[in-house]
Amino acid sequence: MLLIMSGHNYRFECENLCRVFFPYSPVRVESADSQDRTAPEPGEPRADTLLEKAGDGWLYTIRASDGQRELSRSVRAPETDEYPMTRLLFDTLSELTGVKPAWGMLTGVHPVKLLRQHVERLGLEAGMAEFREKWLVSEGRAQLAGRVLKAQKPAVEELRPDDYSLYVGIPFCPTRCAYCSFISQDMAHAKKLVEPYLELLYLELERTARIAGELGLGPISVYIGGGTPTTLSAQQLRDLCAKIRGVFPMDRCREFTVEAGRPDTLSLEKLMALKEANVDRISINPQTMSDRVLQNIGRRHTARDVIDGFELARKVGFRDINADLIVGLPGDSPEGFADTIRRVLELSPTNVTVHSLAIKRSADIVMNEDGLSLHKHPETAAHMMDHAIKTLTEAGFEPYYLYRQTRMAGNLENTGWALPGSVCRYNIYTMDESGTVIACGAGGVTKLKDPYSPDLKRIFNFKYPFEYISRHGEILERKEGIREIYEQFRQRLY
Ligand code: SF4
Repeated sequence: MLLIMSGHNYRFECENLCRVFFPYSPVRVESADSQDRTAPEPGEPRADTLLEKAGDGWLYTIRASDGQRELSRSVRAPETDEYPMTRLLFDTLSELTGVKPAWGMLTGVHPVKLLRQHVERLGLEAGMAEFREKWLVSEGRAQLAGRVLKAQKPAVEELRPDDYSLYVGIPFCPTRCAYCSFISQDMAHAKKLVEPYLELLYLELERTARIAGELGLGPISVYIGGGTPTTLSAQQLRDLCAKIRGVFPMDRCREFTVEAGRPDTLSLEKLMALKEANVDRISINPQTMSDRVLQNIGRRHTARDVIDGFELARKVGFRDINADLIVGLPGDSPEGFADTIRRVLELSPTNVTVHSLAIKRSADIVMNEDGLSLHKHPETAAHMMDHAIKTLTEAGFEPYYLYRQTRMAGNLENTGWALPGSVCRYNIYTMDESGTVIACGAGGVTKLKDPYSPDLKRIFNFKYPFEYISRHGEILERKEGIREIYEQFRQRLY
């Protein structure tokens, strides 16, 4: 798609909106007065966005084409601002394509965070109304966001200024799933990296614990994610949990979660090691209960392995188990997805997380057009997601965290659902950006939330295990940034 900008620089949001309406057409952005303008490809969608002075106000104009039909719309406003331009672009593209996105104009990752700002400013009812009307969010999605806001309130209010969540990344998986866009490495290629990685991870954990301790901070939650942490051996899991418990003060820690994601990595010995280390939450992620769909996405396990994994975890004594599911997988159907939910609920998870398949360019599935067949039918994906919302609600679950990504099936959302009393605080603090998350390991992103203002600062670790190992000194140096940033937060108070 060709996006032409003239008289303004609202590029970021205009580009995001173009992707909502034309998700499979890469957006090329050009300035109207550039010397290097390119000609549009035949049939290529296009949007010309124009801002110009008109009397004592401003005229906003969009001329858009889907490659066949053209539409031109204008609006006047007294000031220059991003909102009238993006609103006009949204309205014009919606009229041109007939698409009414469920999240309206919202293209960001954290719609609930935005809703919270509206509600804090105007109160619940007026804030909800403004959220819906200003951003053209559908009634169904506004209600979903409102339920999430309500469900996460106790965990957000419980946070103290000296709390943080500790995230520990284990970037290894038994094999790579076809839709994966994470940094995870499969064990066939990365086996020899595991031990050196863990040794350096321990150093990072020690340094982090020291810095946080000197600042008077302590973890309220611990989350070991990945990748698939249970790719590690039982002894490695034991050592990792012991290291965390040994160097961090755990007196205020309310939960300790380990993603046991892939059922093909589970064993009695590993689950016992986690239980003995007082891990109280795990994830066993089916994604689908169809063996055929599992095969399509390159997961080398069956639905039976998921059932066995749940049974084993129950035998070992785990109560809080999350199950991740995905809407929009290749070869799945509304009937197949309904069957997946029914069979997963029979396993009595306390948390269910429903994702919409997000296709990034780094995923193998992008190479395969069949893989995207359901992804390209947003109304089917929306129907499946609505079924999940209805069924989980009827089963007593409440949605408690929600986030969005680009290029999601149906342009929908990922939602975590929990039975009463079973929310995972880490998911709330990290997805809602309501609390500090200190991350260790490859791909970790530390998010330092000013407890006294909306300010949030990030510190990035290197993404891939080999970089993490070869440039570990830099990672330890970056960790010192936690000290500086917290000192700045505190200075602002005085
Ligand atoms: S289990 Fe998750 S991180 Fe690992 S390959 Fe599959 S999608 Fe990627």
